Amino acid sequence: MAHRNHLYFYYLKDEDTDEKVSQLTEVAQSKGYKIVDHTDEANIIVSIGGDGTFLQAVRKSGFRQDALYVGITREGESGLYCDFNLDNFNEMLHLLMHEELEVRRFPVIKTRINNGTDHYCLNEVSIRSTIVKTIVIDVLIDDCHFETFRGDGLIVSTPTGSTAYNKSANGAVVDPLIPSFQVSEVASLNNNQYRTLGSSFILNKDRKLTLNIQSTGNDHPIISLDNEANPIRKIDSIEVEMDDAVIKTVKLKNNSFWDRVKRTFL
Ligand code: NAP
Ligand code: MN
Repeated sequence: MAHRNHLYFYYLKDEDTDEKVSQLTEVAQSKGYKIVDHTDEANIIVSIGGDGTFLQAVRKSGFRQDALYVGITREGESGLYCDFNLDNFNEMLHLLMHEELEVRRFPVIKTRINNGTDHYCLNEVSIRSTIVKTIVIDVLIDDCHFETFRGDGLIVSTPTGSTAYNKSANGAVVDPLIPSFQVSEVASLNNNQYRTLGSSFILNKDRKLTLNIQSTGNDHPIISLDNEANPIRKIDSIEVEMDDAVIKTVKLKNNSFWDRVKRTFL
């Protein structure tokens, strides 16, 4: 790995964080790091805030494959994507400068709406009805019809996204070492006309999932890509696949995914 010393700080501006960032800037500069103004010039992108901020840092910087992402929480915050706290910023810089740096690789999903351009997601893509009526979705696995869903919506999550929206919908928590994606239902209607599996299911990374939205007078559902709403109004189809793209983060010793799950939920 080439020497990484161009840092970009991503955070939501407020007085307190501004102050913290200028302190961090000084520390980083004194250790030979250069602070850059644009994510394109950075090879280390530091998010300061919780998981929501980390998701934005990754999205706004375009899911950089050649950069390392670092999540730093502020006081009182914790996060599944954040290994560091403002208090151990020095330790983080120290880790970055050393060769035995451990890096995590989080699989991401690639979604295509209405056969348009591809968008990566780190947590999930979700589709939800925005009106009182249900939405009807044909679910295809590898181009074969699997089920027809009718209800509030569907969530397709990555392993790291499995602890977010997916978990609230009773999905399983998936180890990010397993490149796979999971489909979870939001309030499916089940009767003699409509029947869905009723449980979440996990697909291998080489599968293709297609969601075809039936026109039933409810064709303006909301699609969210992580914490951003997609502006496309009329949705016909969503394709989800997984390629080799990953989000790389710096790993703190003795802080595995399951340690963080335990810390967050148990
Ligand atoms: P938010 O409303 O602040 O997020 C909801 C909560 O989810 C926050 O506590 C957030 O942590 C946490 N979170 C985000 N990613 C997570 C992950 N991978 N594992 C565990 N917790 C996670 O909105 P946001 O901060 O912009 O986050 C967007 C995410 O919220 C979406 O990607 C979706 O997964 C989730 N969401 C959940 C529900 C639900 O559970 N019913 C509904 C809509 C969206 P921080 O406080 O550290 O940001
Ligand atoms: Mn949040």
